[in-house]
Amino acid sequence: MSYTQNQQNIAEKITSDASRLNWHDWKWQVKHCIKSLDMFEKLLGVTLPQKWREKVNQTIEKFPMSITPYYLSLIDTDVLENDPVLLQSLSSIHELDISAADMEDPLHEDIDSPAPCITHRYPDRVLFLVSNTCAMYCRHCTRKRKVGDIDSIPSKEFMRQGIEYIKNNPEIRDVLLSGGDPFLLSTTHLDWVLTELRKIEHIEIIRIGTRTPVVLPYRITDELVTMLKKHHPIWINTHFNHPRELTNSSRTALAKLADAGIPLGNQSVLLAGVNDCPRIMRALVHKLAYSRVRPYYLYQCDLSEGLSHFRTPVGKGIEIIESLIGHTSGFCVPTYVIDAPGGGGKIPVMPNYLVSWSTNKVILRNYEGVITSYQEPESYESNFCDRDCVNCDLQLSTEDATEHQSIGIEKLLCDSDATISLIPNDNSRIERRND
Ligand SMILES: *Cc1c(COP(=O)(O)O)cnc(C)c1O
Ligand code: SF4
Repeated sequence: MSYTQNQQNIAEKITSDASRLNWHDWKWQVKHCIKSLDMFEKLLGVTLPQKWREKVNQTIEKFPMSITPYYLSLIDTDVLENDPVLLQSLSSIHELDISAADMEDPLHEDIDSPAPCITHRYPDRVLFLVSNTCAMYCRHCTRKRKVGDIDSIPSKEFMRQGIEYIKNNPEIRDVLLSGGDPFLLSTTHLDWVLTELRKIEHIEIIRIGTRTPVVLPYRITDELVTMLKKHHPIWINTHFNHPRELTNSSRTALAKLADAGIPLGNQSVLLAGVNDCPRIMRALVHKLAYSRVRPYYLYQCDLSEGLSHFRTPVGKGIEIIESLIGHTSGFCVPTYVIDAPGGGGKIPVMPNYLVSWSTNKVILRNYEGVITSYQEPESYESNFCDRDCVNCDLQLSTEDATEHQSIGIEKLLCDSDATISLIPNDNSRIERRND
């Protein structure tokens, strides 16, 4: 595993017995998270301007700070104030500026919660908050109100009630474990949650949202991956925001997950000063795809308190998507979404390609600006549909098609087929018999 000079310097300042071994131990990383500005400055060998120092100290009383030594080691001190890693981990001078539009729980996650730890917004899937801590507290976190708040650690009893809710609602087929970061639970505890969920027959897929591949890649241990594999199908979404976050350590973690057959997705947040740039986003999606991670969503920064300095106009996101569609591989393009304030869920906002429309033609434009037309069919009989599916001509069976067919000698060997012999078409004995 890689270990840079910079990381060694930081490790030695943290503990005198620092070694390559404990640097790569995720529990060591969590234990030595940087929680104060003094420590931050000491480890990086920098001093922030006095005004910023005062603000940081005020801010972390309301929204705590925590940075893994690993993530801290990625900060480039030459560009300090503009460094994307620093901007995501150290509070800005503006974080306590609450704008008129800010809300404590803009997505109504607490209101749409029918059971402890559950947000049930969409018909067939739920968010299950199984952890309230993260290794690193992202300054742009939408759940700032909860993350790091020791009063909202979900107890095992609360988690049981959440599982009970999922069990009692058979329309749920997809459970998203989130938090906080589910991978900060011990492997044994997470194994328990997954085992309980897998006992529920109507649960088809389990998704886990985690930022550990970005801020604590050493958490992805062989032991964790072996445990996850028992509970397939498991999908994982992670949260890279800037191409510089994809390091050798991150790539190793992602490769372990992908090799375990876990489909990987990425959810980025559009952040002013961090990634509000088509060039940066293009490099990010390319590096992700190279690591077998599919860009899934690009989020417009939401209206949680203390995020106003990160917000961009919606047009910036559209400009970024415009620079991707057609210009690069289709699966490198995330869906740009605004999570509706008030709990309406994610709403896709994408550039427009439909220019005009008549009764038999549509006019389209492509990514290069070419304007083209598509002739619609002259006759199309719209299917009459009164939702009376039993009497519909369309083939609605959703059972798997039969694939296995015994042929040849195997047909004689298998017990499910009544054939007792195979006879050539032109066998004269049989022809005589037919006479
Ligand atoms: C994002 C989200 C989901 C999952 O949405 P997908 O579009 O299926 O990824 C589910 N529940 C809540 C509350 C969410 O915010
Ligand atoms: S990892 Fe996610 S939940 Fe945790 S602080 Fe970052 S954005 Fe918030």
